[in-house]
Amino acid sequence: MIVVEEFRGKNVAVFGLGKAGNAAVKALLNSGANVFAWDDGEAGRNSLLAQDYGKKVTLAEPKTYDWKSIAALVLSPGVPFTHPAPNPIVKLAQGAKVPIICDVELLYRASPQSTFIGITGTNGKSTTTALIGHIMKTAGRDTEVGGNIGIAASELRTLGKGGVYVIELSSYQLDLLSKMRCNVAVFLNITPDHLDRHGDIPGYIKAKMHIFDRQQKSDTAVIAVDDDHTRTIAKDLKAKGAQQVIEVSSAQSLKQGISVRNKTLSIALPNEKKDIALGDLIHLKGDHNAQNIAAATAAALAVGVDAATIEKAIQSFVGLPHRAQFVAEKNGVLFINDSKATNAEATEKALLAYDNIYWILGGQQKAGGITMLEPLFKKIHHAFLIGEAADAFAKTLDGKVKYTKVGTLEKAVAEANAMAAKDTSGKKPVVLLSPACASWDQFKSYEDRGAQFCAHVGNITSAGAKSA
Ligand code: ADP
Repeated sequence: MIVVEEFRGKNVAVFGLGKAGNAAVKALLNSGANVFAWDDGEAGRNSLLAQDYGKKVTLAEPKTYDWKSIAALVLSPGVPFTHPAPNPIVKLAQGAKVPIICDVELLYRASPQSTFIGITGTNGKSTTTALIGHIMKTAGRDTEVGGNIGIAASELRTLGKGGVYVIELSSYQLDLLSKMRCNVAVFLNITPDHLDRHGDIPGYIKAKMHIFDRQQKSDTAVIAVDDDHTRTIAKDLKAKGAQQVIEVSSAQSLKQGISVRNKTLSIALPNEKKDIALGDLIHLKGDHNAQNIAAATAAALAVGVDAATIEKAIQSFVGLPHRAQFVAEKNGVLFINDSKATNAEATEKALLAYDNIYWILGGQQKAGGITMLEPLFKKIHHAFLIGEAADAFAKTLDGKVKYTKVGTLEKAVAEANAMAAKDTSGKKPVVLLSPACASWDQFKSYEDRGAQFCAHVGNITSAGAKSA
């Protein structure tokens, strides 16, 4: 576990006791700090009490602290910092000029000698983070992967000088960094999202731009220049010249930079020029993943991994669960779990990546439903509707796509499989769970929905019938 020497013997406040907050408490105790912790929710407070830390942790409301004695406030990224309104604790800390940081900052302060690769963007953060982590491990680097994905930053192993941290950074975390310097900062894309927490697009971009703060000449900014916002950011950074900039794209072949187009990875950098045929990457399909591959390649090259190792790692990457995850091929039918697609924008990526789709969708619908997906309806052979949204989606599909209201996921898998197994079109049938909906009407979470899908697929016998 990490040790943050500068907090030894100091009072540090931790607010928000979810996964990151609890990990921060542990790391601070491990650093010899006195911790003052609080969570407005009882569940959070109970999670701390369950740890039985005794007197080393004071569980008390922030307004009771002697703020002048507090060295720092570690704020959970889930707690509003600016929008819609700062949590009262933010005001208390700011009033006493107490620095407000997050768990990623703790990690950096514990190990500033290590190499830090940070990844942000609206979409693709987790996939790109996991892919970069996999490349580092394939290259034999001492690596830890975490942050907004998987393990909380302050729970990661301490790495030495040669170690590489690959850290997914949400805009909330980026707001709460003050010393952290990314040796490589990856910026994937910007689409309107989480505006409730950042006010508007400029506010959201401003938060994300913090990933480049404190970068130096020897550091690298990797920017996917496939949307207007990121193109402007790349142009501005190049003009300022504080760090090196590598542009990447999945939408155009770049004369300088890294592109992935038509299944080819093209590296066009001053010290490396190479085209690498990627073939069909079953775990990284679609243009969105091409962007993630290009960005991961640039990040890995920037920290000295050679192109052959990167190629090997891309080929052996198995993807993340629930994001267009390849589950199985049975009786000539592909089964794909894209349960993480909880809105139409995410589902669009999956529909673009496949043809001849037997589409399982529905759940708790989001504003706009699935109307934006109409241009892709021609790729759907048949739709299987589950959950609360079934009637509303049926209306959108009426006359355009054949559908069945099946109700449950289990029935959807059985019926989609039965129909797909008889497909005679000559094109590979794909049973795709990409619900474009939240899961809470029928499942605990999108992970639970995806796991149940995998289990139902697992029950399909190779004869095409479901086992008892
Ligand atoms: P994040 O961690 O940013 O939420 P993920 O890697 O978990 O991103 O991917 C979530 C979903 O976002 C995927 O299922 C896919 O639909 C979509 N996605 C992934 N990468 C990209 C990208 N580079 N651009 C746009 N959408 C993407």
